[in-house]
Amino acid sequence: MARDRSLGQGRPFRPDRRLGQHFLVDPEIPDKIIALAGFHPSDVILEIGPGHGALTLPLSRSVSRIIAVEKDMRLADRLQKRLPTLGIFNVGIKNQDILRFDLDTIPLPPRQKIQVVGNLPYNISTPILGKLIRHRRRLGRAVLMFQREVAERLTAEPSTKGYGAMTLLIRYHARSARLLPVFRGSFYPAPKVDSILVELDFERPYPARGVKEDDFGKTVKGAFAHRRKTLLNSLKGFFPPWTPDLLLKAMKQCGIDPGRRAETLSMDEFLDLAKILSVDNPQRD
Ligand code: SAM
Repeated sequence: MARDRSLGQGRPFRPDRRLGQHFLVDPEIPDKIIALAGFHPSDVILEIGPGHGALTLPLSRSVSRIIAVEKDMRLADRLQKRLPTLGIFNVGIKNQDILRFDLDTIPLPPRQKIQVVGNLPYNISTPILGKLIRHRRRLGRAVLMFQREVAERLTAEPSTKGYGAMTLLIRYHARSARLLPVFRGSFYPAPKVDSILVELDFERPYPARGVKEDDFGKTVKGAFAHRRKTLLNSLKGFFPPWTPDLLLKAMKQCGIDPGRRAETLSMDEFLDLAKILSVDNPQRD
């Protein structure tokens, strides 16, 4: 039977892989994450998936309050019981699915934002990102561990392998940065892939110059719908009003060669194109 070594309480625990349970066991990593996150003593933290508390326990000493949402009842119960024995009274454990948890129930002092931290269950990292984006107005920074490939996509530069729709859709809402590579052996049980800690700063969205999220999203998704095709061929027919004539005219106006591939376009070029292709643009047709 697989036993989790990080609990250190002599009681067996069988990690549930369906819940993405890979617990941090390298004692240096939580301190590094906390130092890199640089949270303020007055910060209110939402932790996603505290597990045995590898991050929760040391972080509780340096912030105002932690709301830790853990889906596994066994872990939520254990951590809940352990906190008072360690003299920790500023952590609230919620035994819930983060995807169903209502972020609006987190009380906040005026003008303060929720800071988010988590060593994420990788199988649901994309829906978690979607949820954070929907609640971005209440969020400050999110410091999250992703599997390496996802972290690379979130932070990629144009013309690199990871650069794609996810890079651009996140960048519209938050500035992203890689903080720390973490080797798979730092976890128990070890996952099959390495990880990277990423910071998403929702207080630094991209200056979108009035381009609506919906217009930007359609343009980006259409452009990357067929990664190997040219921009013109990928966008053509993705969204019915986009005829080849309209697309050629829009690309000319933006100074974008229609033979280029989506992965070579910068954020600003996508924004320019989205603005012209928008159904709200009176000069579009
Ligand atoms: N933070 C701990 C650590 O670093 O050792 C555990 C990290 S482990 C990768 C992911 C944690 O998320 C597990 O404790 C798992 O039970 C929890 N989890 C999985 N799915 C969840 C969900 N939908 N909502 C909340 N927690 C979830």
